[in-house]
Amino acid sequence: MTNEYQLRVLPQVAASADALRKYVADEYGLALGALKAVRILKRSIDARQRTIFVNLKVRAYVNEMPTENEFEPVDYQDVSQRPQVIVVGAGPGGLFAALRLIELGYRPIVLERGKDVHERKKDLANISRTQQVDGESNYCFGEGGAGAYSDGKLYTRSKKRGNTEKILRVFCQHGASTNILADAHPHIGTDRLPQVIEAMRNTILRCGGEVHFQTKMTQLLLEGQKVIGCVAGEKAYHGPVILATGHSARDVYRYLAEAQIHVEAKGIAVGVRLEHPSQLIDQIQYHRKEGRGQWLPAAEYSFVTQADGRGVYSFCMCPGGFVIPAATGPEQIVVNGMSPANRGTRWSNSGMVVEIRPEDVESGMSNDPLAMMHYQEELERTCWQQGNMKQTAPAQRMADFVNGKLSYDLPRSSYAPGLVSSPLHFWLPKPISSRLQQGFRTFGKQAHGFLTNEAVMIAVETRTSSPVRIVRDNETLQHVQVEGLFPCGEGAGYAGGIVSAGVDGERCAEMCALYMEKIG
Ligand SMILES: Cc1cc2nc3c(=O)[nH]c(=O)nc-3n(C[C@H](O)[C@H](O)[C@H](O)COP(=O)(O)OP(=O)(O)OC[C@H]3O[C@@H](n4cnc5c(N)ncnc54)[C@H](O)[C@@H]3O)c2cc1C
Repeated sequence: MTNEYQLRVLPQVAASADALRKYVADEYGLALGALKAVRILKRSIDARQRTIFVNLKVRAYVNEMPTENEFEPVDYQDVSQRPQVIVVGAGPGGLFAALRLIELGYRPIVLERGKDVHERKKDLANISRTQQVDGESNYCFGEGGAGAYSDGKLYTRSKKRGNTEKILRVFCQHGASTNILADAHPHIGTDRLPQVIEAMRNTILRCGGEVHFQTKMTQLLLEGQKVIGCVAGEKAYHGPVILATGHSARDVYRYLAEAQIHVEAKGIAVGVRLEHPSQLIDQIQYHRKEGRGQWLPAAEYSFVTQADGRGVYSFCMCPGGFVIPAATGPEQIVVNGMSPANRGTRWSNSGMVVEIRPEDVESGMSNDPLAMMHYQEELERTCWQQGNMKQTAPAQRMADFVNGKLSYDLPRSSYAPGLVSSPLHFWLPKPISSRLQQGFRTFGKQAHGFLTNEAVMIAVETRTSSPVRIVRDNETLQHVQVEGLFPCGEGAGYAGGIVSAGVDGERCAEMCALYMEKIG
C-alpha cells in the first residue's frame, strides 16, 4: 500500500531518510517496521519565519518496497538510416533539439564551434593563468554551451511554453540526481554537468547521429528563400537547419544581418556581479546568526524593483559559488557566475542588472538591428580598459558605490583572474549606475545587512540574454522570411536559461519534423 502526505518538517528531519521515516510513522500511526520507505516527491524551504521548515510531499510505502521508476525514461531509437537535420550549436537548445529529433525519427548532425566539454575545461583554466580568452573555447562556446560550466539552475519562470518537467527527466536519464525532480529550485552544479552533457552526446552518437566539434558554421546554404544546409569549415552539410548558437555568437548575428536574413534589436539587462560572503547571505535569509547550520543549503535570494521606469533585479543567483570570466573574445571583460553541486564556497553571487531597451540606446533609435549588441560590446571594451586591459575585472565595494566613493581596498573574491579597484559609480553609464544605486538602497531596506561594504560589485555583466532576435513565425517556428531555418534557444531571442532553451530546442525539433514530413 502507498499513501501520499504533505509534511512540514524541521530541516534535520528532511535531511535524513531514517528521521523522515520515523517522523511519518509517528505522525500517521504506522508501525515503523511496516513503513518500508518514504520517497520525497516535492521539496521546498520555507524560511519566512524564525523557525525554518521544509515543506515536503512524500509517498510512504507500507508493507511494500518502491518498484516504480522515479521517472519514465525516453526511448531513443536508431536513426542512422533516417533523413538528417543540421543542428548548429551544442548548448541546451541544440542538445535537446538533437535528442528530440531522434525520438521523432530524424538523424541530427550537430555542429559545435567549441571543443568537447572536457577539453574545454583546460581553456577555462587558462583564462586566469594567461589573462587571455580563446575566442572559440570559453565559458560560452563549447559542448554544453553557456550552461555547461554554470550553476545548472533548472527553474524557469516560463512554464507555459512547453514541458519543463520532461527536460528534467532527460537530465536524470543522463545521470543528473533525481533530486532535481523533487526540489522547488533544482540545480545540478558545475562539477556534475559535464558528465551529464557527455552522456547526452553519447546518446546522440549511439543512435546514429553525429556531433562535430571545432566546426563553426559560417554560412547558410540558400536556394531562393529556402535553407538547404550550411557551410562549416571546408564542408557543406545538407538538411534543414536548427540554429541554436546562443547569445554570444556575434559573428552569426553579423552574418545574418549582412545576408539580409531578418533580425531585430531586442531589449537586454546589464549590470554587475555582486558577491557577498555566503555566511552573510545565509544569516540574512535564514534570519539567524548561525546562518545555514548543518542541515540547510546555502541561501538564495531574489530581488526586483523599478528605478526611473526600468526594472532593476537580481539575476542568476549562485549561492556558494564563484564569479567567472565569461568573455568570448579579445578586449572584453564579461562576468557571470557558477556553483558546484554542494554550493559550498564561501561566497554567494548574483547578477544585479538594469533593464535596457532599444529606445534607451542612442544607436537603438537608428533601427540598427545590432544596436544592442554594439552597446554590449562598447560596455565590455570600456570595462576591459578599466581592468588594465587584462581579465582583471574592475570592482568596487557595494556601499562605496552607493555613496559614490572609490574603494581603497577590496574584499577577497572568488573571481580568479583578479580584481582592480575602480570607481564604477563614475564610469558606468548613468542609466545603469544610477538605477543600480537606487535598486541597492531598496534591497538594503528589504533585507537588513544586504547593502554592505562586505559585498563587492564586479563589472560587467552583459550577457544576460540575447541582444538580437532572429525573427521566426510563432506557429511554424521557421524564420519569418526563410523556410527550413529554425532559430532556436537563447540566441534566437526565444529563451533564457537552460530549461527554457531545452524546451525551445524540443519545440524546434518538433516543428522541423513536421516540415520534413511536408516537404517529403
Ligand atoms: C556562466 C554562466 C552561468 C549560467 N548559469 C545558468 C544557470 O544556472 N541556470 C540557467 O538556467 N541558465 C544559466 N545560464 C544561461 C544558460 O546557460 C543559457 O540560457 C543557455 O545555455 C542557452 O542555451 P542555448 O543552447 O540557447 O545557447 P548556448 O548555451 O549559448 O549554446 C550555443 C552553442 O552554440 C555554439 N555556437 C555558436 N556559434 C556557432 C557557430 N557559428 N557554429 C557552431 N556552433 C556555434 C556555441 O559554442 C555554444 O556551445 C548561464 C550562463 C552562463 C554563461
